[in-house]
Amino acid sequence: MEEGIEFKLLCNPVKILGYNNPDDPRDPKNGFVSGIECIKMELGEPDESGRRSPVEIADSEFVLDVDCVIMSIGTSPNPLIKSTTDGLEVNRRGGIVVDEVTGLTSRDGVFAGGDAVTGAATVILAMGAGKTAAKAIDEYIKAK
Ligand SMILES: Cc1cc2nc3c(=O)[nH]c(=O)nc-3n(C[C@H](O)[C@H](O)[C@H](O)COP(=O)(O)OP(=O)(O)OC[C@H]3O[C@@H](n4cnc5c(N)ncnc54)[C@H](O)[C@@H]3O)c2cc1C
Repeated sequence: MEEGIEFKLLCNPVKILGYNNPDDPRDPKNGFVSGIECIKMELGEPDESGRRSPVEIADSEFVLDVDCVIMSIGTSPNPLIKSTTDGLEVNRRGGIVVDEVTGLTSRDGVFAGGDAVTGAATVILAMGAGKTAAKAIDEYIKAK
């Protein structure tokens, strides 16, 4: 903000527009980015946890004139895990549901931790979850 960067909050990119001059196939701008279409968002109704997720405002699309787009995207758990593992409970964001104390999932003998549980977080949280699960796995095996 101090450096004059403009933050467009509650605003989602819809598509990247390309420049194309049909009258001049040799126009040097052809094939380059000419703009990005965005749509305005607003906070929807709170879910059961009280969190309000953004929803699109109908017909609020607008175009930003840009000549360069740099992706800085978030991450989410790979849906492959859920789709290939029977009985594995995940939350609505695709994070594996675990017992907070042990890291045990809804499948007996299967433990999880880190970003696959919390969504994109930090190394230190993933390491902590790993230690928690390691201890619980040790106890689980010894109790067998
Ligand atoms: C660009 C970027 C920058 C970041 N910067 C920071 C930072 O500065 N500080 C910080 O604390 N955190 C940072 N993070 C977050 C941090 O990287 C993660 O929170 C952390 O790595 C999560 O650890 P994890 O072990 O849960 O998952 P991961 O590190 O993602 O490890 C999961 C592993 O499982 C493997 N895997 C996936 N599917 C399968 C499969 N089917 N079979 C076998 N293996 C599989 C993957 O290849 C991967 O090696 C950053 C993340 C990103 C993307």
